[in-house]
Amino acid sequence: MNRIRLLSEDIINQIAAGEVIERPASVVKELVENSIDAGANKIDIFIRNGGKSEIKIVDNGIGMSCDELYLAVQRHATSKLNADDLDNIKTLGFRGEALPAISSVSAFSIQSSNNDSLAEGHELLIDFGKKPIIKPAKKLRGTTITVKNLFFSTPARLKFLKTDDYESLVIKDYVKKISICNFSIQFNLFVDEKKILTSLVQDSKNRTSKLEHRTNDVLGKEFFKNSIFINEKRENYSFFGLLGIPTFNHSNTKNQFIFVNQRVIVDKSINQIFKVAYKDVIPYNRFPQIIIFIICDAHLVDINVHPAKNEVRFKDKNKLNSYLIKIIREA
Ligand code: ADP
Ligand code: MG
Repeated sequence: MNRIRLLSEDIINQIAAGEVIERPASVVKELVENSIDAGANKIDIFIRNGGKSEIKIVDNGIGMSCDELYLAVQRHATSKLNADDLDNIKTLGFRGEALPAISSVSAFSIQSSNNDSLAEGHELLIDFGKKPIIKPAKKLRGTTITVKNLFFSTPARLKFLKTDDYESLVIKDYVKKISICNFSIQFNLFVDEKKILTSLVQDSKNRTSKLEHRTNDVLGKEFFKNSIFINEKRENYSFFGLLGIPTFNHSNTKNQFIFVNQRVIVDKSINQIFKVAYKDVIPYNRFPQIIIFIICDAHLVDINVHPAKNEVRFKDKNKLNSYLIKIIREA
């Protein structure tokens, strides 16, 4: 064993990448969330070879100045945590670790300019965690991030990835979820140059009609047609979404979309609650199809329990569960 010492910044970033970036879909997730936090209303996602050779995200959000570009790729640098209050997070990001992590395991580039009409555009390049290089670039609206050759410098991680088709599918599933959750943003997904998913923004003030259009674009018309709309409030929680009718069931839980405060969530215990709520009307080996938005005060849910923020912890899970079961049964 060697003597104790502090790890280098590059190694720290690679270790963080191990937690946050598991596969190409995790890169897509982190970058799309940044674009949403930047206020974009159009996000284009381009992937090549399942995202292994290239992922490019183009947004029309607020963009970054030259100084901000430098900061953005540093560890624990974020514009999102106001007053250091972890109990009141309104943005998708807050940990300030995605960009340094991604740029430590890829050939990484950000092109951006802030919306100030006099500001110039810049491009920042990082080659697998090396020192950033910055140069002037064409001024664009918003930000374009390109991630090439993910994990090429870490063969052990690369070996872990599945086929291009599989990785593309994981990305497509994620883009479906995030686009159902954000029906005021237009998303386009291109796989090897082919547009495979597009969701337009419905020009309506009505949430239900927006959800209907988005569901039709992303999941096909059958979903909305075979669902019951819910919009309920119980104490500190609001529930909004679509509950598939019992005959419109599925062979797995893939068509159960759970969003908590505009965040895509994976929560097996909520899948289980759906199962319980439908148990008298669906065969036990089938699963209901559901889109549910759970909205509550930020302090009722802890989102800082998972590096990729896929899971959350509710302060009062029992209450939430019983509301869910009641609302579903009544519907
Ligand atoms: P976090 O999202 O947790 O703040 P990130 O490493 O993902 O951490 O991003 C660091 C910072 O870079 C963000 O806080 C934001 O200020 C800036 N940033 C990243 N992506 C974009 C983007 N697409 N548009 C504008 N700013 C961005
Ligand atoms: Mg982020």
